[in-house]
Amino acid sequence: MNCLWCDEEIMLEVSWTSLVNPTKPKQICESCEKGLVELKGSRCERCSRVSSSTICEDCQWWENYHHGKDVIDFNYSVFSYNHFIQEIIAKWKYRGDYELGFVFREAFADHFHEKFGNMTDVVAVPIPLSKDRLEERCFNQATMLASFLPVPTVEVLSRVHGEKQSKKKRRERISSKNPFILSQKLNKAVLLVDDIYTTGTTLRHAASVLKEAGCPKVYTYTLIRG
Ligand SMILES: [Zn+2]
Ligand SMILES: [Zn+2]
Repeated sequence: MNCLWCDEEIMLEVSWTSLVNPTKPKQICESCEKGLVELKGSRCERCSRVSSSTICEDCQWWENYHHGKDVIDFNYSVFSYNHFIQEIIAKWKYRGDYELGFVFREAFADHFHEKFGNMTDVVAVPIPLSKDRLEERCFNQATMLASFLPVPTVEVLSRVHGEKQSKKKRRERISSKNPFILSQKLNKAVLLVDDIYTTGTTLRHAASVLKEAGCPKVYTYTLIRG
């Protein structure tokens, strides 16, 4: 097996533990893996941002915006944003290297077990791309991430507006129309899945649609906290 990022051969270390407890073959070599930095230490309980306060200022703002009750129960992210992960993401999602997404499989599944493993009857809902964007890229990175999880994936959201709003300021984006519609009500806990939590606006738009339709809990699970 060669590293999906640098193409170096991955040397499998054979030790007593690896014989007793064989791990799945790695998709990324040890030195590349070091560039992926897991979020550590105290973080905001709502959005996973590294923060010393329980609920960060941003999330307090959101709570006020939603009249005292945020539409997402909490977000959990695995990695912090850095130049290296930005390069991987660019090649994976913008330059169509589907296979490269597998470098995240192990970590995304492991952290799911840690954080959401005790939840029963939860379904994963990937944040959708617009039709045009999906045609352009051939796959949705959020759907791929959801496929790494041991829970069913249901694609019940679709976009009525495109994604071209990332250059707007946060407040302009919030006040912009909700781009999502829901094709089916879900009366169970939902795990919204996406590659990155940046301002949290997109995820909250999606969560609003679900909650308005009676969904009891909406958690968001994202690979990266931007
Ligand atoms: Zn490598
Ligand atoms: Zn927060």
